[in-house]
Amino acid sequence: MTRDEIRELAAFQVDESKGACALSFYLQPDPPQDRSHRREAIVAKDVVKQALKSAAASGKSGSLHADLDRVLELATSVRGNGRGRAVFACSAQKFWREYELPPHLGGTHIYLQSRFQLKPLAALLGAQPGLCVAVVDRQRARFFDLRLDDLRERGAIVHMLSRNGSSYGFNGYDAGHAERRVAGEALQHFKAVSERLRTDLEKGIWERVIVGCQDANWSEFESNLHPYVKERVIGRFSADVASVSNEEIRERAGAVLERWIRERGRTKASEALDLAKSNGRGVTGLRRVLQALEAGEVQSIFLSENYAAPAVECPHCGHLDAHLVPSCVACGNATRELSDVCDAIIPIAIRRDIELFYLKEDAELDRAGNIAALLRFRSDQRTGQVAVAS
Ligand SMILES: [Zn+2]
Repeated sequence: MTRDEIRELAAFQVDESKGACALSFYLQPDPPQDRSHRREAIVAKDVVKQALKSAAASGKSGSLHADLDRVLELATSVRGNGRGRAVFACSAQKFWREYELPPHLGGTHIYLQSRFQLKPLAALLGAQPGLCVAVVDRQRARFFDLRLDDLRERGAIVHMLSRNGSSYGFNGYDAGHAERRVAGEALQHFKAVSERLRTDLEKGIWERVIVGCQDANWSEFESNLHPYVKERVIGRFSADVASVSNEEIRERAGAVLERWIRERGRTKASEALDLAKSNGRGVTGLRRVLQALEAGEVQSIFLSENYAAPAVECPHCGHLDAHLVPSCVACGNATRELSDVCDAIIPIAIRRDIELFYLKEDAELDRAGNIAALLRFRSDQRTGQVAVAS
């Protein structure tokens, strides 16, 4: 799933005047040990049938029925490959998108709302950088893009090493010389790989990199990385280029990434909370986060895992208010109630490339009102010294 595809979902507008409805369906796969029972398909069918019933009861339009039928068909035919799935549909506006996702969706659910439900996606995607996975040894390198569990090979470099002297076996050939030559070739190869990483980074092809290589090669490879590239390495896993499968690369790099996002979320959240106390580039609590969001100040948002709060939204100007006021304070039009303000925050964050972190059991964030933000700047402090995000 690409960033543009996610943005498309976040930007999708439902024409409610025509009775259209945005359907979002998430299918949580069975854990590996249960895959033979096809429990996931049974649960999915139940969820869809339940939605069909309640749609019929509420007299929703026929187009929704068509979407639900199609989702039911998908749920019935799903083959347990351990991957999660998501469908976003609105047949009244001829929209249907289907994706495979990582297997951590927090349950099989269907949502019929006025916009696509992106929370399970946001929780996965959160602060995912454009990620490159480079799998390297002394003569080969393969480059992949990893986005939401979708691994795509982008290119490779091969510099086959000369066979070393002993296996050549012709007289007078200095084995030491041959070894040095092979070492020199490996060095040239590492330099070429490093150069490729640097130019791809400069072209904006990736933002962070995970390296897969054998432990014995890591220190030599690392010492040849350009400093810009080195500071963007978020982790490493042990792999042999010749034998590692794409599935293994996806799983191991995915685990490194998950750990990195979790740690980064904690560090940045605690930074935001500290800065909020010193009246700097941090805010806490829904009211202040919404204000900062509206002022375009937000760089990252931190949410407790199960955070939800009511709010009102102005359908006219888009203003969000933590106070449940009947008319918009910005433009005076009638507001509508949102049962969960996250339904409005998440698409905004996705459209504006704001990092979104969901934090599990973070006592400090819980005490601060379960929501906080790190700011790029504070507009009320822009006269004189401007505090700019590093
Ligand atoms: Zn308004």
